[in-house]
Amino acid sequence: MAETAHIFVTGSTRGIGRAIVEALESKGARVVGHGSREAAGVLGADLSDPAAADALWDRALAALDGRIDALVNNAGVFEPVAVDAPLDDWQAGWARTMQINLQASADLSRRAVLHFRERGRGGRIVNIASRAAYRGDSPAHWHYAASKAGMVGMTKSIARGYAREEILAFAVCPGFTMTGMAEDYLASRGGDKLLADIPLGRVATPQEVASAAAYLALEAPPSMTGAVIDINGASYVR
Ligand code: NAD
Repeated sequence: MAETAHIFVTGSTRGIGRAIVEALESKGARVVGHGSREAAGVLGADLSDPAAADALWDRALAALDGRIDALVNNAGVFEPVAVDAPLDDWQAGWARTMQINLQASADLSRRAVLHFRERGRGGRIVNIASRAAYRGDSPAHWHYAASKAGMVGMTKSIARGYAREEILAFAVCPGFTMTGMAEDYLASRGGDKLLADIPLGRVATPQEVASAAAYLALEAPPSMTGAVIDINGASYVR
């Protein structure tokens, strides 16, 4: 019998992250999740703290008895910062989004690569990026799009850098996905108008994104490493 996969998923308290945990567990994986604060069943760590991600890896590794086979970087924020905001606010908005969305993912990916190398048996990293990486985002979200484009570049670098060691990396780029985050956004952007831009006629479900992430974390063939999977109802086809 194949060994049970041990997987660590960030931002698993709700939305896409919660669906990813459910999809992984339904495929037999043993999963440890995370949220911004301590709660039942998840490790708490506020990733806006530059020291948090590295310390979180140690806790996740301990919770999974010293073996992680795959890391899913899902935690993220989608917070606006206006172009005419005072410089201090503008820079603070950029720094916070880049820290949570990109730097924390990089710090965890770094520890994952070091762990996979030490074990000598490979491993997988799945980064939940966004359609915004390719298409850009609203005028209040330059930094969000930049953070997600950064995740895609990071993913490809890991894929190319460590494929020989069977360390695989993938990115998932969801378009609008009906979670708490998207509901607010849809409402603020006038719902139907936004839907008209999606040929499929609806936003994605967290389960659709999760099924792709679970496939990449557990099953995708090694030759797929470096792939970026779009899940956007053909609202951005590249
Ligand atoms: P969500 O807001 O429902 O959940 C976000 C998760 O990240 C939560 O578990 C939360 O605890 C965690 N998180 C947020 N801030 C954190 C912090 N400072 N420290 C630690 N954890 C923190 O979001 P979602 O819609 O499920 O999105 C999940 C991922 O998918 C994000 O990376 C997001 O950018 C990406 N995404 C979402 C959509 C969408 O439309 N929902 C589209 C494209 C990409």
